[in-house]
Amino acid sequence: MNTLYFVIPCYNEEEMLPITARALLEKLNSLISAGKVSKRSRIMFVDDGSQDKTWEIIEKLSGSAPEFTGIKLSRNRGHQNALLAGLMSAKDRCDITISMDADLQDDVDAVDEFIENYENGAEIVYGVRSSRKTDSAFKRSTARSYYKLLEKMGVEITYDHADYRLMSRRALNALAEFNEVNLFLRGLVPMVGFKTACVKYERHEREKGESKYPLKKMISFAIEGITSLSVKPIRFITFIGVFVFLISIVLLIRFFIVWCMGDAVPGWSTIVISIWGIGGLQLLAIGVIGEYIGKIYLESKQRPRFIIEKDLEKSN
Ligand code: UDP
Ligand code: MG
Repeated sequence: MNTLYFVIPCYNEEEMLPITARALLEKLNSLISAGKVSKRSRIMFVDDGSQDKTWEIIEKLSGSAPEFTGIKLSRNRGHQNALLAGLMSAKDRCDITISMDADLQDDVDAVDEFIENYENGAEIVYGVRSSRKTDSAFKRSTARSYYKLLEKMGVEITYDHADYRLMSRRALNALAEFNEVNLFLRGLVPMVGFKTACVKYERHEREKGESKYPLKKMISFAIEGITSLSVKPIRFITFIGVFVFLISIVLLIRFFIVWCMGDAVPGWSTIVISIWGIGGLQLLAIGVIGEYIGKIYLESKQRPRFIIEKDLEKSN
């Protein structure tokens, strides 16, 4: 029978954890008693260097029921790295993992359908939000345009899918081959391939605590998504560069003709505008290139993507 591991990244989730743990345990027990997953299945919490009591709660939970387990990262590394740490630790202990946020925004009941799809041969099952009712109008519209932008950049991504997904051991082993430090799992997982499926679910509001993704983190996550998966911005800048250069040649020819005809007007504003225009473009180009050079710099270091400080299963 299949062993299932829930992988839940947690950062300062002391308020949500007891509620989430109860809901997941209930779900896992019903799956076990229905004979869908084995008794060795677990709920694995990954503490992403929380400053509050998150780790203490995880330790307490694991003492209270054998189904709970946890790992603690040595410091805060961000959602994506925490999730990867959990998935990579779980992959040798189980047949399937289901990753999910700690705030119960994703509907736990969709899990049954996830497993059904896995039994029908899917190695990866994406949870897809059926609507964005619970989001603010701002988040909804920025998310939509962001997905469109990603698509234009040639990034293959599942629309309205966050990190609620099932992955088989086979898919995880393939994911482990991707050594990148700049992580954007939503864009990376589709590159793994295999048979996939989508399951629709309704996303709820966060019950307790606040979003750990303030606007600043969201923007850097969005930039990460593009620059870690696409080199199109560089090409686009090159294209603009060529275009601007062509315009300047046309202008040069035109000015030359005007000068030949003898009525050249001292073009103060033209010069000033072009200096600013081209200066701006150059800065933009340097910025974009710098972004990628920064990425190369980080990748070339081959730093570990996470460091596990404690593993409740290994210390037992
Ligand atoms: N998270 C994490 N490390 C971080 C930030 C967030 O592990 O540095 C976890 C967080 O505990 C939650 C998940 O990532 O389980 C998603 O975060 P959140 O629900 O705050 O994001 P939102 O749903 O608002 O986008
Ligand atoms: Mg959330």
